[in-house]
Amino acid sequence: MQFYMDGFRGGDPDIKNAAPNRRDRGAFAPLPEKVDVLISGCGPAGLCLAAQLAQFPEIDTMIVERKPGPLEKGQADGINTRTMEMFQAFGFGEKVKRESYWVNQTAFWSPDPANPAHIRRIGRVQDVPDDSSEMPHTLINQARVHELFLDVMKNSPSKLEPDYSWSVKDVIIDHDATEYPVTVVLENTGINAGELKTVRANYVVGCDGARSNVRTAIGGKLHGDAAHQAWGVMDILANTDFPDIRQKCLVTSSKEGNILILPREGGYLFRMYVELDKLNADERVSSKNFTADHMIAAANRIMAPYTIDVKQVVWWSIYEIGHRLTDRFDDVPQGVDRNPRVFTAGDACHTHSPKAGQGMNVSMQDTFNLGWKLAHVLTGRADARLLRSYSSERWVEANRLIDTDHQWARIMSAPPGQSELDGAGMPRFQKQFIENLEFTGGLAVKYDQSYLFAAPIHQALATGQEIGRRFHSAPVVRLADAMQMQLGHLAEADGRWRIYAFAGADAGAIHRLADWLECDPTSPVVKYTRAGEDIDAIIDVRAIFQQTFDVLDYASMPSLLKPKKGKFGLQDYEKVFCVDHKGFGDFYDMRGIDRTHGCMIIVRPDQYVANVLPLDGFADLSTFFDGILSA
Ligand SMILES: Cc1cc2nc3c(=O)[nH]c(=O)nc-3n(C[C@H](O)[C@H](O)[C@H](O)COP(=O)(O)OP(=O)(O)OC[C@H]3O[C@@H](n4cnc5c(N)ncnc54)[C@H](O)[C@@H]3O)c2cc1C
Repeated sequence: MQFYMDGFRGGDPDIKNAAPNRRDRGAFAPLPEKVDVLISGCGPAGLCLAAQLAQFPEIDTMIVERKPGPLEKGQADGINTRTMEMFQAFGFGEKVKRESYWVNQTAFWSPDPANPAHIRRIGRVQDVPDDSSEMPHTLINQARVHELFLDVMKNSPSKLEPDYSWSVKDVIIDHDATEYPVTVVLENTGINAGELKTVRANYVVGCDGARSNVRTAIGGKLHGDAAHQAWGVMDILANTDFPDIRQKCLVTSSKEGNILILPREGGYLFRMYVELDKLNADERVSSKNFTADHMIAAANRIMAPYTIDVKQVVWWSIYEIGHRLTDRFDDVPQGVDRNPRVFTAGDACHTHSPKAGQGMNVSMQDTFNLGWKLAHVLTGRADARLLRSYSSERWVEANRLIDTDHQWARIMSAPPGQSELDGAGMPRFQKQFIENLEFTGGLAVKYDQSYLFAAPIHQALATGQEIGRRFHSAPVVRLADAMQMQLGHLAEADGRWRIYAFAGADAGAIHRLADWLECDPTSPVVKYTRAGEDIDAIIDVRAIFQQTFDVLDYASMPSLLKPKKGKFGLQDYEKVFCVDHKGFGDFYDMRGIDRTHGCMIIVRPDQYVANVLPLDGFADLSTFFDGILSA
């Protein structure tokens, strides 16, 4: 973490200086009449977007929520490894690591053939494959995740906070207007219930959940299979003789249904998903009179011979499985050639069963994809055409997720006789669970080739950093201070691109690249860094060498890698890295970097590998950025 660049200031470095143009949030301050971005909904999707945009005080962002205040408990709880990597970029990955439950093993329980009324453990699986991510798979309540994003917003230069008790009632787009073309009708749901206000916006993002008004306003419809199957979910404090209660467990009974057990943060709490009766096609879950007591009784039947003695039901809900998707995530119909103004994200455009634990994760990944694009466009760094890529990139992923989720829900709900078909001695759901691990970790996302993801012409230079997938971190050591760290953790959620230059056998190639990047008029660093900005304001270049820190000379590094920054022109010492010398692993070996030729890996602000190029691929690098950035 770097701070004090513009002068010493005591106190918590996470709290940024307030920008002078931030909105007056006094008790009687009116709502703004115009904003750049209006976000509807303070769920994970909306808050992740707000936290990202809050880093740009020049962008007026407003986030409204129809409820009177933040979520307090319940809803989702699974944070996959990919989302943990993103949390690291927002600065609270370590906090979540400290507070959460880590899913290390998943256990599988089935009816005992000797006594089918009783369950017995049939297997265990390591939940996060070795070196699939440096971050753990965690469980923590959704309200805490919201709180962490709210802190990021509040501590940002924009000092952004939600406007609670305002519901988005309607969204009207004037396609002929160029300035603030979207009119949002807000309805007060609080003390002045019924009061209407309009706010004009350049962009609106509907993060308003499965019953999204924004989706309806742009003509979006959720299609798909509601599956008509209900699961009861409860967060409880209880005692039990079930031996695996502090492990994630999938439990199948012979006649009583299935249970999913998720241990939770704090060491005592756990969650249970209990499969409830299949619903008829015309039934809604609310029409059934299920209660927490029904769930507790069902759990005791499913888990026989073990029993659960519940002391406190912290939260419970009946959750209906549905796998549904809209056919686009913005307001531009198929075949129409214009840039979008209104978007939907998260449950507003795709819904999933809770069992694969994806809903909250995918929702945040949607807006992490959209956030930097909106910031680029609104700060003049890119043409608004960039915004077209949000729907195309995320729709493909949501569709893939729904297919896998569907398959998983069917397997989980199959009667035990059908799920234990496998001749190889492993039940089908355990096998499927293992096959799905990369997917459930959020690591299987691979964006298609486009002007934002180059053709894999030079992929052989970095076989473990596939173009279209997220940058896969590994250990390095910082040259200047021999600090052991993860290279991926340099990337903050700050809307900047990264170029990681890995030295080959000829260290001179790094010097030639750095000099060209710093001085040549066709270099993207020269072209897209504005007058008065630090040299890494939009493209942050870092170099990694194959040697250990003790044999390299920091002083001889090129000036691009020792930039002088900020109002004092202070030297930034954190641009050069070496391989790890402490036995944590060699980045080159771990990620398949070509030791002879080295390479450049170009990483988008949302941490996805956009291109792999040779160290002398100057023209290709210029062309790539010229297709995206504006001067
Ligand atoms: C009751 C409930 C229980 C759930 N249980 C589980 C679970 O057990 N496991 C699991 O994996 N997932 C669960 N989910 C789903 C999971 O929480 C979502 O997948 C995830 O929160 C999606 O995030 P989101 O930001 O897209 O939407 P949401 O979290 O739904 O957030 C949408 C927000 O928008 C607000 N809003 C809605 N309409 C408007 C409007 N017109 N104007 C302004 N604000 C509006 C809502 O109040 C809400 O705060 C549950 C969801 C709900 C609602």
